[in-house]
Amino acid sequence: MADAAVGRLVAGVDLGGTKILACVVDAEHRIIGRSKHPTPAKEGAKAILDTIVKALHEACESAGAKLGDLGAIGIGSPGPLDPHRGVIMFSANLNVRDFALGPDLSAATGLPVILRNDVRVGGYGEYRLGAGRGHQNMIAVFVGTGIGGCMVSQGKVVEGLTGNAGEIGHVIVKAGGPLCGCGARGCLESVSSRTAIARRIGKKVRKGHDSVLGEKLQGKNHKLKSKELAAAVESADPIALREVHRAAHYLGLAMGSMINLFGPDIIIVGGGVTEALGDAWIELIRAGARRQALTDPEGKVLIEAAALGDDAGVQGAALMAREKFVSS
Ligand SMILES: [Zn+2]
Repeated sequence: MADAAVGRLVAGVDLGGTKILACVVDAEHRIIGRSKHPTPAKEGAKAILDTIVKALHEACESAGAKLGDLGAIGIGSPGPLDPHRGVIMFSANLNVRDFALGPDLSAATGLPVILRNDVRVGGYGEYRLGAGRGHQNMIAVFVGTGIGGCMVSQGKVVEGLTGNAGEIGHVIVKAGGPLCGCGARGCLESVSSRTAIARRIGKKVRKGHDSVLGEKLQGKNHKLKSKELAAAVESADPIALREVHRAAHYLGLAMGSMINLFGPDIIIVGGGVTEALGDAWIELIRAGARRQALTDPEGKVLIEAAALGDDAGVQGAALMAREKFVSS
């Protein structure tokens, strides 16, 4: 690399339960190198660290650069985290506890590292480089297996006292509703995630209702891909349609409540379910939110689809690293 470019490149890492994606990003926020590996979740912390280092080397190589050309590394990780110390406190998906990934990766690479919640970095990516560009106050909600969120106030991600604020998926929208993975009942995630939709369709199928997803969901296995759900909706399957409308109804309630509480400029809706279901899904959520949003009678708050797809996480993580360590 030319000397002038040294330090201007940064890396973003998206650490997920199934895959690790590492990207090298240039000063214009373009991804110029990438590498992907399965997450060695069963093998624990050391194996995860080694795989991230390997992926970073490969991403640099595909960008025509070396690790030493990087100015910093940003990581998006499942949590809960202690973002100030760079520690993953606990993650069932990654099989780790009190994993000091930030300091460990910093020691392994000689580079400064920032560790933040995976959904928050994705939201920040959307805010700065995607659908949220040009706005000051944003709420992002990502609907997939679970539901994650991110709040940006006056340009800053709201982290709260513990660093873990933004869990829109665990706002309760149905008192006494279904049991959520977090232990509470009636969280948004428990009624509007893909898991929740699949569970409801499965229940209907076992009661004898006809659905194109019947064969898939008649057992206790509720694994459903967003694409399969979208295909069922596309074919006007009545059960799939009803459950998608129901999930959107609760998302609308939650987003309308967020408008009343926080008054964002824009709400961004993303995640696998949103990408598969497209505009009709956004319109359902938008209509529901508008009915609920008494503080916005003219419907000025924008409710739009996310724009960055799977790259939101690496882009947001890289940008946070740049802003903290390189360009400040
Ligand atoms: Zn919950």
